[in-house]
Formats: sequence, C-alpha cells, structure tokens
Amino acid sequence: MSTLMNCLSAKTESPAVIIPNESNPTIASHLQLLDQVLSFQKKLAAIGISPKEAIGIALPNSFEFIISFLATSLQRAVCAPLNPAYKQEEFEFYLEDLKAPLILVPKGAIAGNGEAIRAARKCNVAIAEVHWNGVEVSLEVGKQDGPRNKKFAEIEKPEANDVALILHTSGTTGRPKAVPLTHKNLCQTMTNIQATYNLSPVDRTLLVMPLFHVHGLLAGFLSPLMSGGSVIVPARFSASEFWHDFIAHEANWYTAVPTIHQILLKNELPSPMPKIRFIRSCSSPLSPTVHNQLETLFGAPVLEAYAMTEAAHQMTSNPLPPASRKPGSVGRPQGVELRIMDDEGESLPQGKIGEVCILGPNVTSGYIGEGIASPFTKSGYFRTGDQGYVDEEGYLFLTGRIKELINKGGEKISPIEIDNLLAQHPSILEAVSFGIDDELYGQNVAVAIALREGTALTTEELLAWFSERAAKFKIPKKVFFTDNMPKTATGKVQRRHVATAMIANEK
Ligand code: ATP
Ligand code: MG
Repeated sequence: MSTLMNCLSAKTESPAVIIPNESNPTIASHLQLLDQVLSFQKKLAAIGISPKEAIGIALPNSFEFIISFLATSLQRAVCAPLNPAYKQEEFEFYLEDLKAPLILVPKGAIAGNGEAIRAARKCNVAIAEVHWNGVEVSLEVGKQDGPRNKKFAEIEKPEANDVALILHTSGTTGRPKAVPLTHKNLCQTMTNIQATYNLSPVDRTLLVMPLFHVHGLLAGFLSPLMSGGSVIVPARFSASEFWHDFIAHEANWYTAVPTIHQILLKNELPSPMPKIRFIRSCSSPLSPTVHNQLETLFGAPVLEAYAMTEAAHQMTSNPLPPASRKPGSVGRPQGVELRIMDDEGESLPQGKIGEVCILGPNVTSGYIGEGIASPFTKSGYFRTGDQGYVDEEGYLFLTGRIKELINKGGEKISPIEIDNLLAQHPSILEAVSFGIDDELYGQNVAVAIALREGTALTTEELLAWFSERAAKFKIPKKVFFTDNMPKTATGKVQRRHVATAMIANEK
C-alpha cells in the first residue's frame, strides 16, 4: 500500500500527536487519530468533496490542520496547504492557480473577514471553518459562502498514483511553480526518511517548521507519524517555548532550517541539556561553523540534508553515527539516484562540478501550468538547478544555485563558499553573498552581513580579514551591514531578495 493511509496504520495507544497547551494539551493516540480522520472524511464527503478537487488549507500548525490534511487526501482530493499569513493577493494567486473550489480556515475567520476570506470571496471559492473542540473536529460552511452546489460525495479510497498534494516551490529563482505529488511520491519520501534516521515508535519530534511546506510536512510530521512515533505540534516556532516543549514532552530529535538553529544558539540553553538523538538541518546551506557550534553546545550529531519541493522533500542526507557526517556536505543520496551532469545532460566524473540531477520514485512527474520548460534530462533525470560535486566517498557538496552563481568576467564564484568563509569570522552572525552589476566584469561579489550582538566591524577590517583567506578575485566589492536579513516564511534565504533589499535600502 502506497497511500497516506500508511501514516495511520500504527493503530497503537501511544501518542501520535501532542498539541502542547500548558493547562490542557491535546494528546491523540495513533488509534484516536485514525478515528478522527475517518470521521472528518465523512464530513468532507457530506459537503460534496470528491476526487481530484484541490482544497486550500489555510490553517496554522494545529490539530485542525492535521485532521484536514489527512482526511482530504484520503477522500482522494488534493491538499493545497497555504500559508495562513499570506496577503489577499497571494491567496488570490494560489487559489486561482490551483482552481480550488473550497478553502478551509480556522473558526472565527469568516467573521474576521481577513485576507483569506476576502480572496476566497473575490475568487468565488467556498469557505469552511474547521474547529477542534477537544472531542471532535467540526466543519462548517459559511452561510453566504455555501452550501456548495453539489450533492454528497461517496467515501473514497485513495490510490497510489492519485495526486495527494500540490505545493508551490519557494519562488527563489522566479515565479513559484505548482508541484503535484502523488501518494506514492509522498510515501517514498516517508520511507526514505524513516530509513535515513532509523525512525521508530520510540522517537518523539518537536515540529518547528510550518506544515504548509514540504520540510515540516514530510520530515517533521508525516515521516515520524508513519514510523509510529510521536509529533509535538506547537502553533509556531518560539525560541522561548522550544526547550520547555522539548523537555516536557520528551522529544529526542528535531528538524529545522539553519535560521532556527541559529536563533536557538543565540538563546539560553537548558541545564542539563536533554538527550538529543540527532538534529536535522535542511532547506538552506548550514555553514560548517554553525554545524560545529550546534554539535558542541547541543551534544548531538547534526545531520544536514538536501531537499526540494519537486522531490517531495529529501534527496540526500548525512548518515547517523557511527557512519561519518561531513560539515559542509549535504550527505549521500537517500533512496534516489544522483548524477552530476553537464549542460547537455551527460554525466560528469566524480569530483567534477556540474548540475545535480536526480531520479527516484519520490520525484514529481512535472509542473502544473503552461510555459515552464521541462525540468527533465533526456535520460529522465530531474535537473535541480543546483550546482555541486561528489567527493570520493559519495558525499555531495553544493556550490550554489546555477542561477545565483556570481559570474565575474567569466569566472564563476560560488556564493555558498563566500558565505561559509565569512561565517568563520567571530563577529559575523550571518553572511549572504550575491552578484551585483559591475561595469568592468559584468558582475561582482557583494555581501550582506549581520553582526553578532555587541560586536563591531568595519568594511576595511572585514576585507583585510577576507583577503588573507581567499583568492583576490573573490574579495567582495561591496559590503552591506544589516540588522535584518530578509527571509521567506519558512526561514530560507533568498539571495535575490537580500540583494534587492540591500540595494533599495542604500538609496
Ligand atoms: P524555486 O524553485 O521556486 O526557485 P526553491 O528552489 O527555493 O524555489 P524549494 O523547493 O523550497 O524552492 O527549495 C529547494 C531548494 O532549496 C534546492 O533546490 C536547493 O537550492 C535549496 N536547498 C535545500 N536544502 C539545502 C541545503 N541543505 N543546502 C543548500 N541548499 C539547499
Ligand atoms: Mg527550486
């Protein structure tokens, strides 16, 4: 069976989902979760939801999200999680792109008439409120927003090749692209992640990534759930609550973007530290400096992984001990075939830098929508748009996105290499490099720097330090100091946006 039903097959009394709430946490066992999902599926069928319909889910990380997501996909409809913090225009873009007939929102949202509601009304999309009252999850279609002009639907059973999820890519290199993922794609990722980290029913994870992105949904939630383990689901990441929730609910691992690890490193640590089996880092480059700090202070192996929406998240990861992990590397392929290819789609030998291409049952069959060039090579490999090389032990090192490489007079400079070098400076909290226009070279290196609290650094001092450690042609031509490094909702760095923000700020 390769459907999301796998996530509900543990059928045990042990906790599947824990929603921390000081006085009254919600704890649902694997059996209770199954019951709740099946009963919510009937409610979806009762308002007429049937196969292939894309349902917008604009709910925060919550029990309501979890039940809505699982029940929608089991009803053979297509889940389209949307960031509840989107502005009206963003909701309109996604609802229209998805042709969604219905959007699920939290209780009170209709009366609140916020961004999602206004967008849904403008796009003529029905709206239903979802609410967990501690006993059951209710589903209410707003009076003026329904009932939908449809009869009750049958209760459905999904099949492996049904599309279960549509997510948009982060839009780092252009307009976000709609990626359809089947039950089979998702199940393959869950199996890969379970195998990489040896997840089992004794594991408990604290979910700090949003469920509207593949990282939180697949690595932080569905994979541990399918492994029979427990997931602690606060509404959002909070640096002040993190250790309290981690310790109170006996978590033993977590996965996050580097930004979150860095925030945790800046905050007070508990004493004694809880025992952490491993820490996973993914979605943005983790500098070896931060990697080492995390291992030393948190006392746990840090495993960096590499993922993308089109692969239903994970492609490679560093392994658990006793196998060795390499700071600066995203590890080895996990359930996928990986090749480094040239522009013509020919494989390059080990050690050579080229485009990372992958093949595997977790990879999407292609984008939805017109006008997007095929991402596949003639041999069927998916072109990731990332550049890197594989070392003699099969570990992948990423050198940057092809679209983000800095082309200085024909010399290609890897922004990740510049960032990692700068991260070694004791006063630098974060460095993001990017290309700027240059009359002489076409492009040149610029860098945005966030300093650690209580430190000072001039451009001259920085460049002097840099020139002792890197070839002359890599020395940044321009340094921007900032207190506020722009990030996406999931904490990813978008060089394009950092560049625009820095240049606009200067004017
Ligand atoms: P778009 O495709 O719209 O430009 P995006 O590629 O940022 O946006 P995602 O699917 O969220 O959208 O992100 C996948 C990308 O994130 C990868 O292609 C890679 O560039 C980057 N990435 C993921 N994990 C890592 C990592 N560990 N180190 C460096 N980069 C990473
Ligand atoms: Mg991408």
